[in-house]
Amino acid sequence: MGLRLDLHVHSKASFDSLLDIPTIIRVAKNRGLGGVAITDHNTAEGVFKALSDGTKREDDGFLLIPGIEFSTDKGHVLGLFIEREPEVSAEKGSLLPFESAVRAVHDAKGIAVLAHPYQIRAVIQQECFDGHGGDFCDALEAFNSRAPIVRNPRANLQADSYAKLHRLPVTGGSDAHFAWEIGRGGCVIGDLSPSFGGAEVKEAILEGRAVTFGRPSLRAAKPLSGLVGAMRRGQYSSIPRYALRVALALLGPVGDRLEDALRGRRL
Ligand SMILES: [Zn+2]
Ligand SMILES: [Zn+2]
Repeated sequence: MGLRLDLHVHSKASFDSLLDIPTIIRVAKNRGLGGVAITDHNTAEGVFKALSDGTKREDDGFLLIPGIEFSTDKGHVLGLFIEREPEVSAEKGSLLPFESAVRAVHDAKGIAVLAHPYQIRAVIQQECFDGHGGDFCDALEAFNSRAPIVRNPRANLQADSYAKLHRLPVTGGSDAHFAWEIGRGGCVIGDLSPSFGGAEVKEAILEGRAVTFGRPSLRAAKPLSGLVGAMRRGQYSSIPRYALRVALALLGPVGDRLEDALRGRRL
């Protein structure tokens, strides 16, 4: 059966998730996963704390991979298998430069993965995987359960085709912000078991031995985490907008049409 992993999960160290790490581990184990990567928005504080304070038992046969998700000027970048918090900062009010984020991940001994590339953007910029000097990504997230629910239903198909065309190693994850999303997407490494450590898993991914699996999340997931984020940040004026989007998403195809009609009014 191999080692099944969800390599994109947000804990409560992300502004828009309420999941604590013991819950993530319990749910992931119940769903047959051998490990998860915690990839919080621009911080790895939560996962390193769990690894150092005894929250995560070393001998529980489960792999908790320290990670991070940077928002950069060329899209989101995951850092996986990092050995410490990557050191990088953006100028106030601007996005992190892509190259600085990738370099910080590499300096922290992690691998850099371009996350959900076609979720919003129509193309992948060449520099993201350019092999001619500089810092670039080592792999591409070819399956992300939330990628097809935002704007582009073909996002994962396009990501997978790009990876095949350019012979890139792939990863997969659910992008879970809620417990019911954990394990909805991920990747499997056929010749490994949960008893293997992070170093072997990292090497297997870089060698292109991971194969993605999964199904899309529910349309309501994205606005629901927006709602959580607005409440946690005290942005009360945007709560009605997110609540309306959750309601429309739950209405299914009728809600989709209403949302399209309202989009011109900045829903
Ligand atoms: Zn993202
Ligand atoms: Zn994410």
